[in-house]
Amino acid sequence: MKLLDGKKCAESLVADISRKVGEYVASGLRKPHMTIILVGEHAPSESYVKSKIKSCGNAGFESTLLRFPESVTEAELLAKIAEVNADRTTDGLIVQLPLPKHINQQHVINAIDPEKDIDGFHPMNFGRMSLGQKAFRPATAYGICKLLQFYEIPVWGKHCVVIGRSNIVGKPISIMLSNDFEIGNATVTLTHIETPRELLLDETRRADIVIVAVGIPGFVTADMVKDGAVLIDVGINRLADGKIVGDADFENVKEKCSWITPVPGGVGRMTVAALMINTLMAYQNNFNLA
Ligand code: NAD
Repeated sequence: MKLLDGKKCAESLVADISRKVGEYVASGLRKPHMTIILVGEHAPSESYVKSKIKSCGNAGFESTLLRFPESVTEAELLAKIAEVNADRTTDGLIVQLPLPKHINQQHVINAIDPEKDIDGFHPMNFGRMSLGQKAFRPATAYGICKLLQFYEIPVWGKHCVVIGRSNIVGKPISIMLSNDFEIGNATVTLTHIETPRELLLDETRRADIVIVAVGIPGFVTADMVKDGAVLIDVGINRLADGKIVGDADFENVKEKCSWITPVPGGVGRMTVAALMINTLMAYQNNFNLA
């Protein structure tokens, strides 16, 4: 078993970005700039935002955090998004999810300028990504592709099973890996909560690559994967004792896998790195550098 080290891969990608940014700044351009909108005091969101800001610093980007209280109205939030959309000094905008229940998440996502939508959640980017066109790709899915590429894991022609169909992870990664994309051309089965258990097991037991994003600790057990499988664990679950674990029974499954992502230190780190790649792309688009 070998570890797909998201920390190492992310650091290497961010170092490359930082070198490029250094060249742009030396040529007289401003730094790339990410703006993050954070609503309320959700502990996991605080920690994700902190790591995004830290990574911006490592990449040589400016970052701005705009905080709003839990009580903010949808109209107030949309007004701020319109303001950031119009601000030419911001390249990428993230609205940290989840939002409070009284705010319609889709209204908010749809309000972000697709040219600044570095999370890749806007229907315009999701559509372009699905069609194989240039797009900001959803960061977690894109980060998984970059991790597979970094470790030269064969994907072309392989059988991949994705567990979980969320719009932010399961659905986009299943589309990206099945597309004729730089990391793609796999045969992908997308499974979800309504997939009968026996069918799920049939699929995972013959998969070359299993990607799990369900949010259930220990969901993927050793008997669910074949010898030599590659396992990408997207889950981030906090146990009662504060420990963070993924969706796989890591200690037992790892014995059967050729490659496996640790949690933490796997996909989470790659999500942030992919956001940096998307922000650099937004900046290059702004200055016609690409
Ligand atoms: P979600 O929480 O929105 O939905 C869960 C998905 O799991 C659903 O599509 C559901 O159909 C599927 N599911 C539930 N039970 C199932 C079962 N018994 N069999 C098959 N499928 C089942 O999904 P999400 O937002 O993608 O989050 C999943 C996990 O990934 C969470 O732990 C989340 O914290 C984590 N996550 C991590 C990152 C990262 O950067 N590492 C990013 C996003 C989400």
